[in-house]
Amino acid sequence: MELAQQVAVITGGARGIGRAIALELARRGAWVVVNYASSRGEAEQVVAEIKARGGEAVGHQADVASLKEACGLVEAALALFGTVDILVNNAGIARDNLLLRMKEEEWDQVLQVNLKGVFNCTKASLRPMLKQRRGRIINISSVIGLAGNVAQANYAAAKAGIIGFTKAVAKEVAPRGITVNAVAPGFIATDMTASLPAEIQEEYRRRIPLGRSGTAADVARVVAFLASPAADYITGEVIRVDGGLAI
Ligand code: NAP
Repeated sequence: MELAQQVAVITGGARGIGRAIALELARRGAWVVVNYASSRGEAEQVVAEIKARGGEAVGHQADVASLKEACGLVEAALALFGTVDILVNNAGIARDNLLLRMKEEEWDQVLQVNLKGVFNCTKASLRPMLKQRRGRIINISSVIGLAGNVAQANYAAAKAGIIGFTKAVAKEVAPRGITVNAVAPGFIATDMTASLPAEIQEEYRRRIPLGRSGTAADVARVVAFLASPAADYITGEVIRVDGGLAI
């Protein structure tokens, strides 16, 4: 129970990678705020699953693209649990298109949720972390932010932006005992990748040296490590969880 009595806010915690992170942090003793935008039922299921195992969790609806709603999310955590120790910026969307065909709103939506959402939730969480001189911020980037990808200029820009943001804020808040790190997953089996055409999914799997797609739990364990005391001396780092895809 290395995260006992730590309060963790997980954006997009109702489904996919976020859900696995919520369950993993709760398993290690954290009290969890499960943020969702539209998946209320799934969020309630995650909360119920955590409580059934003797943990503490609550769901909270907020669109991370709105600073006001991001502040509301953190305020809800403060009101219920008194602080925020761990923030996992996981919420993300994809709106893939070749650049020539990419609509302005496809660019804007992805940047708003995937990058501005990270700014919003981090800004909202910093005050309690600065006050207690302790905190862990873990941002979910992507190997696409490291290597780029056809038809994902918006997504790659946002995910590369997260890496720059992670390093800048890591330097800024390190003197106050807060670490900021990023995790860059590769090809992980979730709703996001299930929506890709079968031949593209197969092509990804073929390119992965470890020979399989990743699971949400593969990513969640690394997030839990970064949130744990074992990672006390790690900040501004980007850890790939991709089975070797981006080697
Ligand atoms: P997913 O299954 O599609 O889940 C996306 C999550 O983001 C959902 O929980 C969704 O919540 C939430 N979300 C979307 N827009 C939101 C908003 N405006 N405000 C709050 N929450 C919002 O995707 P996933 O595969 O688990 O991806 C999770 C993260 O990992 C994303 O940042 C993604 O870019 C990143 N990632 C995924 C892969 C992969 O292969 N799957 C690889 C690299 C990186 P609602 O359902 O409530 O809308």
